[in-house]
Amino acid sequence: MDSFDLQPDEAVSYCQHCGRETVHRIEIALRETTTRDEVAPENAKHARKPVRTALCEACGAKSHQSRFHGD
Ligand SMILES: [Zn+2]
Repeated sequence: MDSFDLQPDEAVSYCQHCGRETVHRIEIALRETTTRDEVAPENAKHARKPVRTALCEACGAKSHQSRFHGD
């Protein structure tokens, strides 16, 4: 097993670009939904979705991780 020296905001996950597990920097941001199709009027108050983004520290590729599905 490879061992990673992880910071609190880092995580090991699979990078499609690298084709292997790498260290990713995790960022969680509230993204305001601007696409009207995504937001029904009754859901407008929930228009801000937390989006978790992982930035591969090996190649710099940014990938969206699991979105929080509001169901
Ligand atoms: Zn990568």
